[in-house]
Amino acid sequence: MGFFKKINKGLKKTRDSMAGAINAALYGKNEVDDEFYEDLEEILVMADVGVNTATEIVERLKDSVFKKNLHRVKDVQKEIRNIVADLLSGGEEIDMITVPSVILVIGVNGVGKTTSIGKMAAMFKEEGKKVILGAADTFRAAAIDQLEIWADRAGVDIVKHKEGADPAAVVFDTISAGKARNADIIICDTAGRLHNKKNLMEELAKIYRVIDRQLPYADREILLVLDATTGQNAVNQAKEFKEVAEITGIILTKLDGTAKGGVVLSIKNDLKVPVKFIGVGEGIDDLRPFNPAAFADGLFEEDKDEE
Ligand code: GDP
Ligand code: MG
Repeated sequence: MGFFKKINKGLKKTRDSMAGAINAALYGKNEVDDEFYEDLEEILVMADVGVNTATEIVERLKDSVFKKNLHRVKDVQKEIRNIVADLLSGGEEIDMITVPSVILVIGVNGVGKTTSIGKMAAMFKEEGKKVILGAADTFRAAAIDQLEIWADRAGVDIVKHKEGADPAAVVFDTISAGKARNADIIICDTAGRLHNKKNLMEELAKIYRVIDRQLPYADREILLVLDATTGQNAVNQAKEFKEVAEITGIILTKLDGTAKGGVVLSIKNDLKVPVKFIGVGEGIDDLRPFNPAAFADGLFEEDKDEE
């Protein structure tokens, strides 16, 4: 399935509930009125867009309707889509120019870190890049095994230690191996648990020091993985992680299983952290670089020739 189709399909639940409700609120109206603006704000909040961002969208819409003298319902719908695309734009680029570059993946248990790493590995490999994975989530043996399965699936190398090993030592060895084997991209899984902020901070600081020492000039992404099905909870998680880690972007997973896709707007606009990848399924090709225009289209318009 093509790039846009997959996103469109993955956003079905959010689209059905959010765009469906917007269409219903507009139904039978000849003009947008105050009642519609109130409905719209409520619909956006229900879709986990966040109160601030919902208000901003409504204010911007009122402004456009007035300035552009919009009357037709179709034009209003299109304007909402354009405002959303605009709010989502900026910072989504993934700059992995240096050889090697490093990606550190953090986030609470079960959000989809390991799965997303496997998918990223496959995606970069497809682009002709040499990828190496580091199993720095040493908390459970199963986490290491799972990353190994993904490495096999993607056809990339992996560096691992035993369960309970020092994560920074795994990162050290992964970077060393990456340099020796001329890897383009080094991706490290972490445990990244939040139950103890101080521990996490210390663990991450140690990992940063390893990267600083071994690859001082390398491009570096610290990607926080969030589970879209948790809605506003994901936003709160991101707030907490922001306090302990220098997050450069978000991987938002499980959009396929939820009507809470509006949370993307909350993350981007309230937290000011760019979304870089989205997960729209469990398969190896179900991770996509975030594309604001495609996402906005997917939120509002069903791809008619979807199979
Ligand atoms: P981790 O604990 O953060 O490493 O999370 P895992 O990578 O082990 O993923 C937890 C579960 O979420 C697994 O069953 C994955 O298949 C599932 N998962 C991850 N990403 C997605 C996604 O985009 N869509 C769906 N439907 N499931 C996902
Ligand atoms: Mg994992």
